[in-house]
Amino acid sequence: MKDRKLPTLDLKRGYARIKDEIDQAVKEVLESQYFIMGPQVSGLESDVERYLEVPRAIGCASGSDALVLALKALDLKPGDEVITTPYSFFATASCITRLGGTPVFADVDPDSYNVTAETVLSKVTDKTKAFIPVHLFGQMVHMEELSKELEVRNVAVVEDCAQAFGSWRSIDETPVRAGASGVLGCFSFFPTKNLGGYGDGGMVVSRNQEMADRIAKLRVHGAGTTYFHDEVGMNSRLDAIQAAVLRVKLRHLDSWNEERRIAADRYRVLFAEHDLLGIVTPPVEDEGNYHIYHQYVPKVIRDRDRLLEHLGSEGITARVYYPLSLHMQRCFSFLGYDKGDFPVSESLTEQTIALPIFPEITEEEQEWVVSTIAAFYGKK
Ligand SMILES: *Cc1c(COP(=O)(O)O)cnc(C)c1O
Repeated sequence: MKDRKLPTLDLKRGYARIKDEIDQAVKEVLESQYFIMGPQVSGLESDVERYLEVPRAIGCASGSDALVLALKALDLKPGDEVITTPYSFFATASCITRLGGTPVFADVDPDSYNVTAETVLSKVTDKTKAFIPVHLFGQMVHMEELSKELEVRNVAVVEDCAQAFGSWRSIDETPVRAGASGVLGCFSFFPTKNLGGYGDGGMVVSRNQEMADRIAKLRVHGAGTTYFHDEVGMNSRLDAIQAAVLRVKLRHLDSWNEERRIAADRYRVLFAEHDLLGIVTPPVEDEGNYHIYHQYVPKVIRDRDRLLEHLGSEGITARVYYPLSLHMQRCFSFLGYDKGDFPVSESLTEQTIALPIFPEITEEEQEWVVSTIAAFYGKK
């Protein structure tokens, strides 16, 4: 029993399920000796355009680069403000400062962990150039409450969809996927993402053709034609092996997302069975949302860090996303924020815990996680 282990995410089980398809796809790339961009990359771009129902998809080197490319395409300049959440991965805010822009944080909702129309709209000024909603842990922001208001104020929406490939939200009774409601949407294919490659990778999707053309140039040093540079861009290309792997995985993504949802439901039932609901608050799925549980992140009422250690000592790896709000990061001290400025985000950094979740997790493993938590809190 003691040498049993459960990681937060077991990539090896994911590979085992599709090994033949992946090995064949990678072998074809090796035989073609075509490694950067090329037919696999344009093939993936078309697959994603079809899947998300967006006019253009442009592969790039990472999710962080996707965000920088998107903001460059909006001509973000020093002095411009970009509204976003303080409760996210670092790249959500660093893309803004890397271009000299100013992140303006809007606090999140304690149940969905996402920004709300109320918190965002109160931050709009005449310097606001863009808004970056983060569909955190796989659940979409209420885009319909923001899109029109921001459009009349001339604020562009750049969705950070790094944790939400395949999530959707019912808007006017139509399902709209993450990435398909802003003018630009940014994805990451980092291996641990719910659509993950076997190395770094990213993508920008665009509903605006001109911006898409510009991003397609910016990722290759701003060259429209090779060796002729219209502006100074980046070296941010997607490689063919990643694209080939991702094309295979995209075909299975819907059923994997469905398996994540089943696992999330099971956790909820197990918390109730173990009489934990006064201590553990399961993540809330807002009405109209198809949450894909990129992460499964409940809140606990007390002793979060000791619980984390206890799970670890039993062989279960849980994690904290995120231990420090972005407005409190040392590198952003020049923005002048203080502790207490975003109370909800700050309390979440102390209360949330990411439990193991991935499509292949078994019922026995989930029962083990929850009974270990129950034992920690003196329940059975
Ligand atoms: C992973 C992630 C990114 C960055 O993606 P990389 O591919 O690692 O650069 C950006 N935003 C969020 C919310 C993420 O989770």
